[in-house]
Amino acid sequence: MKFDTIIIGGGLSGLISAIECARAGRKTAIVSAGQSALHFWSGSFELLGNVDGKAVIDNPLDLVPSLPAPHPYRKIGAERLRKLLSRVPEILKEAGLKSYGTLDRNHLRLTPLGFMKPAWLTLGDYVAVDADKPLPWKKVAIVNIYSYLDFYPRFLAHGLENRGVKCSMAAVNIPELNVLRKSTTEMRATNMSRFFTDEAVDHLAAEVNKVAGDADAVIMPAVLGIYSDAPVERFRKAVKMPVWFVPTTPASVPGVRCQLSLRDLFIRLGGEFLPGDTVKGGEFEGNRLKRIFTVNLGDMPLEADDFIISTGSFFGHGLIADIERIYEPVFGLDLNVKGGRTEWYEKDFYASQPYMTYGVITDDKFHPYKNGEEIENLYATGALLAGFNALKEGSGAGITLATALHAASCITE
Ligand SMILES: Cc1cc2nc3c(=O)[nH]c(=O)nc-3n(C[C@H](O)[C@H](O)[C@H](O)COP(=O)(O)OP(=O)(O)OC[C@H]3O[C@@H](n4cnc5c(N)ncnc54)[C@H](O)[C@@H]3O)c2cc1C
Repeated sequence: MKFDTIIIGGGLSGLISAIECARAGRKTAIVSAGQSALHFWSGSFELLGNVDGKAVIDNPLDLVPSLPAPHPYRKIGAERLRKLLSRVPEILKEAGLKSYGTLDRNHLRLTPLGFMKPAWLTLGDYVAVDADKPLPWKKVAIVNIYSYLDFYPRFLAHGLENRGVKCSMAAVNIPELNVLRKSTTEMRATNMSRFFTDEAVDHLAAEVNKVAGDADAVIMPAVLGIYSDAPVERFRKAVKMPVWFVPTTPASVPGVRCQLSLRDLFIRLGGEFLPGDTVKGGEFEGNRLKRIFTVNLGDMPLEADDFIISTGSFFGHGLIADIERIYEPVFGLDLNVKGGRTEWYEKDFYASQPYMTYGVITDDKFHPYKNGEEIENLYATGALLAGFNALKEGSGAGITLATALHAASCITE
């Protein structure tokens, strides 16, 4: 099978570059093995939330020149980053996802543990507030689903009370969920969200109204709207005060929603999505990748003019660590790994961990190298890349999105 562009990996990075390639009229396919980091997503995209241990609020892009030289943001440059990333809210909207935020100023989002963390874009129905203003409520009702264990009202109340908000806590039940309660492992956010449709949403709203008292707002776990906004809108209309959602521990409803919405947009634009298949290698001619092979297609190759590899970091299996080495398993691309196993990590669990900065090294256009030779029709994007610590910097999604859009624009322009 021959395509113009093939993307390896269907997480946030692969989906975004695929959408832009398909939109430009290129015959585009994604081959994706399985779950991505989006299934664990917080509902917020981070851009650059922490530099030298300090929270960044104003003008995060002004700090790009101060980042270390191999950092992906440095390779793209602040001006082009702004241009590329300003496309993101439009793409999300096209996929049916409302978002809040601006490139000039981070806002604060409420984490499942009750902390406020800088973020660039947050999905419309999730708690996101201005960093310089007091929280917009005097009293909130934190309402959980009865016997749901992946949501922590006491942590949230502690965090909100520290910021001067009075909190009440309650849990509600509706009979529609009884079928899930037969097994404790079934009471997951994504499972519940499949039951919160039509009248079940009204029943939930009625129970919430009974316990919310005179609160200014209700805060609930993100358990509604896995396929669309409709249940959330219906619920918000039926509850007597404003309702805001907080992400839960995985699997994440906003994350699955984002993954499915972007995948559907890609397919609407004419893209071919090959799920549940793993790329196992490829054939090169000179400095060009000619074809790839997958587990399901066996000897039948997939050919393309350009390829993008966005297989993620250790979490996505884009990088593998065994007892002796860290390697990129699809093509054996060159990495920035230094030293042996004992140098990959710091014994202090909370220290900045060297392995977090490991990944595929590239030129300024994100062409990776194999045995020191640049592959001119292959781009590496997203969490697979070397040169940043997404956890420490609060930069994961920003890098993922910017490198994906950069690669797509190099291919299509
Ligand atoms: C658990 C977790 C939670 C995170 N939460 C946030 C957050 O809330 N906000 C934020 O800003 N950042 C977050 N990040 C940072 C995150 O890295 C990025 O935001 C981003 O989602 C990474 O996207 P990606 O597409 O590069 O990689 P991934 O999401 O890891 O996707 C890689 C995809 O490639 C597929 N794949 C791997 N190997 C192959 C192969 N050989 N063949 C075919 N397919 C393959 C995988 O199955 C997967 O679908 C989080 C990271 C992790 C690990």
